[in-house]
Amino acid sequence: MEVDRRHFVVGSSLALSGLAQAGAGNAARPATPTTRRRIATEEAFTTPAQTKAMLALADSSWPSLDLGLWRSRTIDSPMISHLSLEGDRLRLMDQSGIAMQVLSLTSPGVQMFDADLGVAIAEDANDRLAEHIRKYKGRYAGLATFTPQAPKQAVKEMERAISRLGLNGFICNSHTNGEYLDDAKYWPILEAAEALDRPIYIHPRSPSDAMTSAYGKYGLEFAVWGFQAEVGLHAMRLILGGVFDRFPRLKIIIGHMGENVPFHLGRSDTRHNREHAPIKRKPSEYFLDNFYITTSGVTDHLPLKYCIEKLGADKILWAVDYPYEFNQIAVDAMDAAPISEADREAIYFRNAERVFRIT
Ligand code: MN
Repeated sequence: MEVDRRHFVVGSSLALSGLAQAGAGNAARPATPTTRRRIATEEAFTTPAQTKAMLALADSSWPSLDLGLWRSRTIDSPMISHLSLEGDRLRLMDQSGIAMQVLSLTSPGVQMFDADLGVAIAEDANDRLAEHIRKYKGRYAGLATFTPQAPKQAVKEMERAISRLGLNGFICNSHTNGEYLDDAKYWPILEAAEALDRPIYIHPRSPSDAMTSAYGKYGLEFAVWGFQAEVGLHAMRLILGGVFDRFPRLKIIIGHMGENVPFHLGRSDTRHNREHAPIKRKPSEYFLDNFYITTSGVTDHLPLKYCIEKLGADKILWAVDYPYEFNQIAVDAMDAAPISEADREAIYFRNAERVFRIT
């Protein structure tokens, strides 16, 4: 584990500076045999249009906490090239024995753009994603991007992404201009996901502008705390906002071993106040019924074992979080996890095939 720990520390700091995956995490290692089928489910890409528009925002004076990462990137920085659909992606997958990546447009997707620009960049990204999946048959699946800031166009694009492009689900990068999907204006989006019977993966972004003073210090706005606090908040808003009473078949996926939510379900139940949140069931019941979690960015075995016991192995999907984390470290961690082979198979690929309808 010592080698992995070193790579983990290096990887985490390099990811922020845009140098992750430059071979360091995979150097001098034999290729991992593909005796196990592995589907990685939170794997990022960018498009030229998204990159250009995000770098333009990074040049603006908008004090958004999300833009810190983009201000450290340039059009030719290593992180942007790792985020391209082509490049080293497939070679690094093969090297670590990863059969398939479920791809999604990198955070914050199109959610910081004006509606018209967001719609155009989402359509282009979904088209490119579908084309890439066709080109490398069996190696990729994809989550469609949409514009919460334009709910009507979002629904239209969600329908096109499934029925015309054959994509596998949806990605939403937490808040949109400080608002969350429990707000009634976003219900058409939840209704569409339920009707199409595809999950929405709620992926992190930094906390909203209203939280700048609380999070804009010590790097708190990123993966050290802000990402998981933000998505955990989003998940609890959906639960307490009664979203699952209204859309009982809606499926939500959250990464990073459940963004801390699984660990306080007991307290949420005992402290839930029906006057504040008049929902029909206990908060934990919605989490157990309507949520899936992924292992992205988490390699500790203890939270994995806890989540298997608390949620069931059929609710957990494996993920790397490429290119922000190293493929090999995620593979080594799941290969070595002290769990049953049946659970490992479920987490590595069976659940992903079922939830994303990968055939
Ligand atoms: Mn991610």
